[in-house]
Amino acid sequence: MTPFDLVITGGTVVSPEGTTVADVAISAGRIAAVVAPGTALDAARVIDASGRHLLPGIIDVHSHHREPGFTHKEDIVSATSACAAGGVTTSFAMPNVDPPPNSAERLAAMIELYQAKAIIDWNINPAGTVPENIAEMATMGIAAFKVFMVVDTGRSYPHMPGIGVHDHGQLLEIFETVAPTGVRLMVHPHDQELMDHIERKYWDRGERDFRAYAKAYAAYDGIIWDTAAALLLRLQLATGTPLHLLHTQTTGVVEQIRRAKSLGQDVSAEINPWAVMLGNDWANIERLGSYALSYWVPEENTEPLWAALRDGTIDVVSTDHGPHTREEKEPGWTDGWKAHTGTPSAQFYVPLLLDAARRGRLSLERVVGATATDPARIFGLAHKGRIAVGMDADIAIVDLEREWQITDDVVLSRIGWTPYAGRTITGAIDRTIVRGAVVYEDGHVIGQQGWGQQARPER
Ligand SMILES: [Zn+2]
Repeated sequence: MTPFDLVITGGTVVSPEGTTVADVAISAGRIAAVVAPGTALDAARVIDASGRHLLPGIIDVHSHHREPGFTHKEDIVSATSACAAGGVTTSFAMPNVDPPPNSAERLAAMIELYQAKAIIDWNINPAGTVPENIAEMATMGIAAFKVFMVVDTGRSYPHMPGIGVHDHGQLLEIFETVAPTGVRLMVHPHDQELMDHIERKYWDRGERDFRAYAKAYAAYDGIIWDTAAALLLRLQLATGTPLHLLHTQTTGVVEQIRRAKSLGQDVSAEINPWAVMLGNDWANIERLGSYALSYWVPEENTEPLWAALRDGTIDVVSTDHGPHTREEKEPGWTDGWKAHTGTPSAQFYVPLLLDAARRGRLSLERVVGATATDPARIFGLAHKGRIAVGMDADIAIVDLEREWQITDDVVLSRIGWTPYAGRTITGAIDRTIVRGAVVYEDGHVIGQQGWGQQARPER
């Protein structure tokens, strides 16, 4: 019998259902055997994972890689390198790049870029903003469409022309058009009319700094998020379009998701690391200003959000990895609306979640469910999300005991900073394996550009 390409011995394999110590054999990029530890397996290479845990490769369905158009802050190579170092084996790119992929032609051009450059597996969530382009893009191996529920101002950033829709009739038309494709629709909820009014009140009072910006988005217990989610859930009910609600951050939205699911609606939801590990602590915002803002998530939401993640009301954790340069963040000290919104996290969110698991916020099994198994199920990646025979050999080998400090100098994103710098956490990524190839080990990304493949759903 020909030897296996790689055997990982003695590790504890984690699934949403539990843990088991096993040897894992890999051939031709797939998992070929999962057997009792110590079984003699002939292999070209053996990795001893004794004392380590094996997680299914992490799947991040919401990331901003910035290419094409904004490669001064991130590009496909730097983004997928940060992913590799963070245990992420599949990353979905959001469409707020330039030009935004909102047609088959632009999507095809972007796919070509990823085929040449990505170190890990990937997909692209094109903008579903042009109804006549939706059907064709749906045939191109995508797992989701994305719509930002913001006014299309024509500004170059953060919401360039072609990706934002806030008109309710246009949104309904998009839901109607996406429905027959079977592709899931991701929406960034935002009530533009309420926000216009709220912002004007702050500006009329001369309040424009990062504190005002933070408070405006959280005004009236997050009213702009709650009313937007209500509309989206109602549009889902009307059309049957599978909906993936982005940026869950208020107790009000959690309650709406819970109700929609109890009614049998096809709704999934994400939470982002910043909602429970960064922007939920006002002290972080005072210390870091716009560097801590994605959004302020007032602390009374923290426990309900963790509870919703634990019980599956919130299905997945995805990063909303949003790198911006220091030059783009600095203006926030005096004008929060001039700073670019978003925080990077692709490299560190899994270790942060392992640390949160250690402190009892959620189980290790639920970390695996929320970051790998459930995103694979929801987005139709039938060969990903589990360590089992026949699956892609996507694996993150982690050390749950290692204590280390996050610092700016290990950041692989082009921006060179992380809002999590200075934190000492327990839980680290040892190795990352994508379809049998080790892409990260011993603190170095060793994966090859172009190794990554489009993670196409099977419907
Ligand atoms: Zn985002």
